[in-house]
Amino acid sequence: MKDSILVINCGSSSLKFAILANAGQTTLVEGIADRLGSSESSITFKYQEKKSIVMLDEGSHKNAVTQVKLWLNAHSDIEHSLMGIGHRVVHGGEAFTKSVLINQEVINGITDCSKFAPLHNPAHAKGIEVAFELFPGLPQVAVFDTAFHQTLAPEQFLYPIPMSFYREHHFRKYGFHGTSYRYISQRLAQISLGSDQQGVLVAHLGNGASTCAINHGQSSDTSMGITPLEGLMMGTRSGSLDPSLISFISHAENISADEALDILSKKSGLLGVSEISNDCRTLEEAMASGDQRAKLALDMFAARTAKHLASVATTLESIDHLVFTGGIGENSSYLRQVICNHLKALNINIDSTLNEKAPRGTEYDITANNSNTTVWIIPTNEELMIALDTISLIQH
Ligand code: ADP
Repeated sequence: MKDSILVINCGSSSLKFAILANAGQTTLVEGIADRLGSSESSITFKYQEKKSIVMLDEGSHKNAVTQVKLWLNAHSDIEHSLMGIGHRVVHGGEAFTKSVLINQEVINGITDCSKFAPLHNPAHAKGIEVAFELFPGLPQVAVFDTAFHQTLAPEQFLYPIPMSFYREHHFRKYGFHGTSYRYISQRLAQISLGSDQQGVLVAHLGNGASTCAINHGQSSDTSMGITPLEGLMMGTRSGSLDPSLISFISHAENISADEALDILSKKSGLLGVSEISNDCRTLEEAMASGDQRAKLALDMFAARTAKHLASVATTLESIDHLVFTGGIGENSSYLRQVICNHLKALNINIDSTLNEKAPRGTEYDITANNSNTTVWIIPTNEELMIALDTISLIQH
């Protein structure tokens, strides 16, 4: 039966993939090709609980997709079950407000958005072209990280800069993690009846992190901007700060504005403050052994997350639910607790015991008895959304 979808997520130097069957519910195989572009690139397949690694002679996206195709040739039952390919695409600009079946016009549109996502969109376009070449005849769908936020009102998405910049260059807030937020919104509606009619706050906290307010099932504000640099403090990104700092840093360090921006993107956030790591788990271990820099970095991360939750909440009529998701949101009881400690004025309270004992990888309600808002942990599932969008567009 043709019921499986190959989900592809092309990064600038990596390619993640998964094949999902049974309406996206079963992962048959998944893997990642990384260090693409270097001589040490390899691709890992995880199939039936076992991992296998293939070194890539030429570490290109094409080579990585070719290896997936070769793996499928050796597993012909899975190859024959493929009905389509779904691609995660970071930036859809204003052109893409929902997922679409890919044709040449769509590839051109994705390439046009490269000015806002110069590392990601060209890689996506490349991945799509290679997939058409290697899987001729299979329909392909693009699912955009930005699309869910196209419902923002102009007073939320416009920057207070001369309007000509928006008119002529489309400089505005776009927001990201939209596929994750859409999944959370739909999942919450299933596990908490009526939540699609209410105000929902979501903190998607991973190495990249953002917040979103969802009003009656639609995104009403989000913390990331024209790029993912705006908003929360993240693994290596500073998040929002006074833009004058770019000029101060470049003068003080005798570097260009672009180099200063690169520091805000790649050497700041948890890494920059802790001077240890961008990884939350490593920092929690360091904090547990008494490292004050690690604690300061984590506490700053929590304070800023709370601030951006409160900020996007201004677009809601009520805060009925708060959801934590992403690697940190799902796993760090310390950060969930400190973030919620900052939200007491909004009557958001979690039960410390429930928060501590929340089982990994499960949906869990950690609300305290005295909280006005129900607080959840919901593991996100972007691959499932991509598979479901792909199936739905192929079938119509
Ligand atoms: P991204 O998809 O943005 O790369 P993820 O959603 O995978 O990121 O989240 C990665 C982050 O989640 C890392 O900072 C990692 O340390 C953190 N994380 C994962 N597991 C745990 C854990 N058990 N405790 C604390 N943090 C965790």
